[in-house]
Amino acid sequence: MSSSKRSTEEIPTNIRVAVRVRPLNRAEQAEKSVSAVKVDRQKNSIFTKMKTFGPFSKVYDTDATQQMVYEDLVAGQVKKVIAGFNCTVFAYGQTGTGKTFTMEGGQQSEETKSWRDDPTTGIIPRAVEDIFEQLDQMGCEEYSLRVSYIELYNEELYDLLAANSVGEDRERLKIFEDPTKKGVIVSGVEEVPVRNRADVYKLLKLGAEKRRTATTLMNINSSRSHSLFMVSVVIRENTATGDELVKQGKLNLVDLAGSENVSRSGAEGKRAKEAGNINQSLLTLGRVIRALTTSGPHVPYRESKLTRLLQDSLGGSTITSLIATLSPASSNIEESVSTLEYAIRAA
Ligand code: ADP
Ligand code: MG
Repeated sequence: MSSSKRSTEEIPTNIRVAVRVRPLNRAEQAEKSVSAVKVDRQKNSIFTKMKTFGPFSKVYDTDATQQMVYEDLVAGQVKKVIAGFNCTVFAYGQTGTGKTFTMEGGQQSEETKSWRDDPTTGIIPRAVEDIFEQLDQMGCEEYSLRVSYIELYNEELYDLLAANSVGEDRERLKIFEDPTKKGVIVSGVEEVPVRNRADVYKLLKLGAEKRRTATTLMNINSSRSHSLFMVSVVIRENTATGDELVKQGKLNLVDLAGSENVSRSGAEGKRAKEAGNINQSLLTLGRVIRALTTSGPHVPYRESKLTRLLQDSLGGSTITSLIATLSPASSNIEESVSTLEYAIRAA
């Protein structure tokens, strides 16, 4: 285990909105782009020339590690999931700003033994490993972990782990309202049992490969779809009175469509419909989070498939983290400001 483990204070709110600024990339350095955003850790705020945004729950500068992000935002969520609740992490931002890096990580080194010290390991593998470890520590013997991986494109759901998940005619998943509880049932979705981190890497790879093939065949850009990695944990315990207690929790890890698609206008035909649908789901998500943070009377879950799908994992006693990612480059400042505007509305 890494020796640099920090003891972080749990963020007290059930909805956390964080901002993460990635380092300038090579292209940005080559074009002599300079950093146009400043991260103020004391005030948990972000400065731009035009405006200051904050306070957020947490702000991460270019030197923040994957471990810091995990410990601040997700470790507490994992505990909650093991206790039988549903939690969600969203990565929101312009394409190329680190959503996938934050959620999955850099090279996804399934063979690396010292993966914890691999600074690029992202939230998904850390969360799964953490779940296994905690179940171990609890001496929990009867449990199961299952993973589903879904792509949401143009308000349609596709199963990234199903055999027939590529091609124009790839099967769409249907969702139904669950009459017994809040939320929906995804009919026929693959729920693959996993035993360790290596299994999870395999599924991440498989899903990413299917997503790539499907998007190529359909001539779409994967930045226009959302991907949802769902880990469900079922624990069976025997109580002192001899009854069986079943705890069921779910962790949803969502890599959202690129937010540049929202602000970009002038699209036509297929692209316009796509952009409209991305708009709808990202804007609805923003409104849902806003309604939850302000305890608004009406939470518009039903206005997009994404929020319908996650209805049982947003609000109430769940914990939600939204991580807004951005580029520091002056050349991207307009998109960065629009990301910050979205994030501050949710904060
Ligand atoms: P997105 O998923 O938002 O389109 P990516 O996660 O693919 O963006 O990131 C784009 C590139 O930037 C990748 O090469 C990634 O490794 C790198 N990157 C993103 N965030 C960071 C970071 N915080 N530190 C180092 N590299 C990063
Ligand atoms: Mg990505």
